[in-house]
Amino acid sequence: MQRNNPPFLSCVVPVFNEGEVVSSFLTALIEQLKAVTEQFEIIVVDDGSRDNTVQLVEPFCYDGSVKLIALSRNFGKEAALTAGIDACQGDAVILIDADFQHPLAMIPVFLNYWEKGYDMVYGVRKDRNEESFLKKKGAHFFYRIMSFSTGVEVPAHAGDFRLMSRKVVDSLKKLPERDRFMKGIYAWVGFKSIGVPFEVQERAAGESGWGYRKLTNLALSGITSFTTLPLRLVGVLGLLISAASVLYALFIVFTTLVLGSSLPGWPTVVTAITFIGGIQLLSLGVLGEYIAGIFNEVKQRPTYLVQKRRGFEPEKHDASTD
Ligand code: UDP
Ligand code: MG
Repeated sequence: MQRNNPPFLSCVVPVFNEGEVVSSFLTALIEQLKAVTEQFEIIVVDDGSRDNTVQLVEPFCYDGSVKLIALSRNFGKEAALTAGIDACQGDAVILIDADFQHPLAMIPVFLNYWEKGYDMVYGVRKDRNEESFLKKKGAHFFYRIMSFSTGVEVPAHAGDFRLMSRKVVDSLKKLPERDRFMKGIYAWVGFKSIGVPFEVQERAAGESGWGYRKLTNLALSGITSFTTLPLRLVGVLGLLISAASVLYALFIVFTTLVLGSSLPGWPTVVTAITFIGGIQLLSLGVLGEYIAGIFNEVKQRPTYLVQKRRGFEPEKHDASTD
């Protein structure tokens, strides 16, 4: 395995309105990284913050060890991570949140596993007690669907907090899709992986950028970008309903001919029409989700746009533009 000695470590930190914590976080991260390696870079990706986050990060970008990529607007955490992953040059790359929820003390543990030969070391949350009942149940349901319907096992309770080897990072960069459902993508690329449990810390300040709307969007895009199970389900449902309606038609023929009853049945007709109508709309909706996905991919828009970069000037390693 080709590695610099000592290894060059990259940390990618997505930030969105983290003005209250970003300075203390970077100070703590630098201290932690200095304790474990001599060569490192921190890539802070500002995801279109509306507060003073960028101004607070800029003073850190003076010796090439802290670099800032400011995106042109809020593209979402997944895009911010992609921007950081595209720019980093380390032999190993750690993704970490800026709100102190991912304990810095895990970094040496991750590195340890990497040194033992693991390509992907991901943090597994011990409990989600902080989160609301609805978020917990939603997450549980989502992981069940994903694991059941895709060939790849998406580990539950594993987030973006992880270390990846250069091999994994280069593989990630080969995936061209715009719809970057990272949790699925991490699982899809494979490689020798291990989950390491960690205790989620309380958010140091500010509030989570993930409301229910963003979470639902993420889950939907995760499902439509990774599995076609809903399309199949709709097909099966259609088949079942048609079969049932044929049986019912036979039953009506039977009752009319044998028992001689007719006109009654108006309620059945209305129920059938509305039911079938509903199923058709549902199917159209599911198809629509996938078509929207195709539409977004076909547009070939970049995942993110960069407004400015800081700290990249004194290049340590030649940036390989591929
Ligand atoms: N974040 C981001 N863009 C967003 C939302 C969040 O870059 O649109 C960053 C945020 O600054 C933090 C990390 O992603 O560093 C995790 O976000 P948050 O703490 O809001 O999410 P949670 O911890 O609830 O998963
Ligand atoms: Mg958080």
